[in-house]
Formats: sequence, C-alpha cells, structure tokens
Amino acid sequence: MGRELTLALIEAAAGTFAAHAEELTRLDQAIGDGDHGSNLDRGFKAIAAQAETLADLAPGAALQKAGMILVTTVGGASGPLYGSLLIDIGRGLEAGRGPVEAFAEGIEAVKRRGRSDVGAKTMLDVLVPVLEAWRSDDRRPAPLAELRRAAEASRDATVPMRALRGRASFLGERSIGHCDPGAASTALLVAAVCDVIERAG
Ligand code: ADP
Ligand code: MG
Repeated sequence: MGRELTLALIEAAAGTFAAHAEELTRLDQAIGDGDHGSNLDRGFKAIAAQAETLADLAPGAALQKAGMILVTTVGGASGPLYGSLLIDIGRGLEAGRGPVEAFAEGIEAVKRRGRSDVGAKTMLDVLVPVLEAWRSDDRRPAPLAELRRAAEASRDATVPMRALRGRASFLGERSIGHCDPGAASTALLVAAVCDVIERAG
C-alpha cells in the first residue's frame, strides 16, 4: 500500500465520521448513551493528526498503530473494539496473510474482546456479512459494490434485532426497532474504504 493510499484512507475515514457524527450520536441516544458519533470523530481525528507518520509505515504496522490510537483516544466500548479490529488486521498483514484473511482475524479479535458474535445487534452484524460477501466474491470487477450493499443491508437488518451486548442490551425488548449505532458506523467505514479503493482504481 502506497503513501497516497494510506493518506486517502485516513482522510476518508476521518471525513465520514466528522460528517456523520451527529447521526451516529442520534442513533446512540436512542439505545445507548449518545456518545458514539463523538467517540469515533475524536478517534479518527486523532489518527488523522498522525497521518504523515502512519503513511511512512508498512500497512500492517500502520493499522496496528492506528488501532492503538483508537484504543487510547476513544472512550466507550467502540474504541477498544475498533482498535482490536485494526490491530489484528495489521498483525495479520504483517504475518503475510492476504487482506481477506487479515480482515477475518480482525473480526475474530472483536468477537473475543466483545465476548460477542453475530446476532447480538452490534458492529459484528455488519463486519461478518461484509467478510462473507468479500469471501464469496470470485467475480470481477464488481466486488466493491457488493461489499457496500452487504454493509447497508446488514446495518438495516439490525433494526428488528434485540441487543444482547453493550449498553443497548440493558434496554432488552426496547432495543428492538432501532438501528445499532456500531452497525451504522461500520457501514460508513466500509463505504469510505470502498470509495477510496474505487478511486485508486
Ligand atoms: P459505549 O457503548 O461504551 O457508549 P459506543 O457508543 O462508542 O460505546 O459504541 C457502541 C457500539 O459498540 C454499539 O452500537 C455496538 O455496535 C458496539 N458494541 C458494544 N458492545 C459490544 C460488544 N460486546 N461486542 C461487539 N460490539 C459491541
Ligand atoms: Mg455510546
């Protein structure tokens, strides 16, 4: 991964969370404590502040460092969870895994850290379907559109779910009928990454 691509990915991720912070906060106000938008905005701004340093690193090292920044700057559940995701994707890449397998390892780290899995109305309900869409795609050249679609559909599929993990689980039945904030932020991140890769050709 070149310098330019790293910089573009950081800018896109930070940009999307800045632009959608209020929307994510509103979702978290409904079934959480209303900090998800500001949490991610703060975390990705902190990553953007170190963009030049990160761009000098190999992809695996850059992702691990970015993940550490999220762990240390984002309060709440999502900082350590997104941090684990990036750190273990980075470790996977550093160990020579391909992008899909590295992504799978990052997701396993989220499951371990969150003691969670699909079906609990969390970010995992978007991460896992996106991984499956990526894995099952052996056609060219439309995988990015499929990943975006998988992210949006799985985000929307969290609305009727009942939360079993995180703050929303305290609401029990009352968590039903709302989109999970972490599912929404993961879908935004997937879309931002897809946009950058598409533009890079
Ligand atoms: P907090 O819940 O501490 O306020 P955030 O609001 O930033 O943290 O993040 C909430 C999101 O984190 C949820 O919408 C959900 O997607 C995700 N989440 C919370 N707990 C878990 C967990 N145990 N496993 C996976 N994801 C989780
Ligand atoms: Mg919250």
